[in-house]
Amino acid sequence: MKRVYNFGAGPAMLPTEVMEKAQAEFLNYQDMGAGIIEISHRSKEFDAIIDRTDELLTELAGIPDNYKILYVHGGAQMQFSAVPLNLINRLPARKASFVLTGNWAVKASEEAERYGTSLNIASSKDQNFNYIPDFDVSQIDPESSYLHITSNNTLFGTRWHQFPKTGDVPLVADMTSEFLSRKLNINDFGVIFAGLQKNLGPAGLALVLIRDDLLDYALPETPGLLNYKTYAEQHSLANTNNTFAIYMMKLVLEWLKDQGGVEKMEAQNEAKAKLLYDCIDASDFYLGTAQPAHRSIMNVTFTLAKDELLDEFVNQAEAQGLYALKGHRAVGGARASIYNAMPVAGCQALVDFMKEFEKSHA
Ligand code: PMP
Repeated sequence: MKRVYNFGAGPAMLPTEVMEKAQAEFLNYQDMGAGIIEISHRSKEFDAIIDRTDELLTELAGIPDNYKILYVHGGAQMQFSAVPLNLINRLPARKASFVLTGNWAVKASEEAERYGTSLNIASSKDQNFNYIPDFDVSQIDPESSYLHITSNNTLFGTRWHQFPKTGDVPLVADMTSEFLSRKLNINDFGVIFAGLQKNLGPAGLALVLIRDDLLDYALPETPGLLNYKTYAEQHSLANTNNTFAIYMMKLVLEWLKDQGGVEKMEAQNEAKAKLLYDCIDASDFYLGTAQPAHRSIMNVTFTLAKDELLDEFVNQAEAQGLYALKGHRAVGGARASIYNAMPVAGCQALVDFMKEFEKSHA
């Protein structure tokens, strides 16, 4: 069987080695005569899996001791509710600040309005979110319980190259489409969250890192299973968690460690993105949509100068095993999502195809 190079934005491709290991262990985990999805979340075998997942995350992401690692139900968007429920009450004004860099930040801001006041302090909507807006940290209302950003904008192909120093206002980052693709200083953040379905595993579960002094502010009406403290106190096992997703994440983290860790991966991700951006910049046939200084190394967005060729471009690519290149409707054009699991060879194959397609359609 030939696996495609999957450029889909998520759920995204996972390393073949990870898929094979999961397949090999699926029916019979460690000779138990049962698979992972058939055994208790309170078994010693699952305990070992969740402990090892914590350890690998701590090591690979450099998570300091004063942060808790939580595995929270419901994917990334559920965090747009969980974050305000847990944090907006940190200060009595119940305000949260947002930088609007794309649809996900807009949604998060709208959701927080249910629980308090959202202050949108900067936005790049004026240019269809093709850049990260500049703002001065003095613009952050000191009554804000936190500042929310989307560190990598999956739809628009931009990312924060540097993070704002927000002082006493905790920085909350939605890192769904880039967590573990780049080195971070976790201490710069109060909360980091990420849906698993890009760099970490299957959809439907979110990884949350939270500084432990932020665990005490949940609104009284916070559902038990969205209260970060419940997760922190019960090792994310207050109820039956998504054991399979946690197991898959452990396999992905083991793979990442084998690859040399985040620093190595970041260098490879930069090289992969450069292959594609160099190809786009060298031609008038392809046009990058994100401003070069703000480009993502996870989601490469571009249009074709002859937009009428887009469907043919996408279909021909697919016929050659280059899958899911169609861009999001908010941007149009094409998008190559090149998360950690995308090998350099996949990006090279796409560049070769793009050059060939340009030659035959110029
Ligand atoms: N935030 C970002 C940055 C995303 O890319 C996505 C999904 N593409 C989401 C949030 C929403 O994720 P979910 O579907 O898991 O709710």
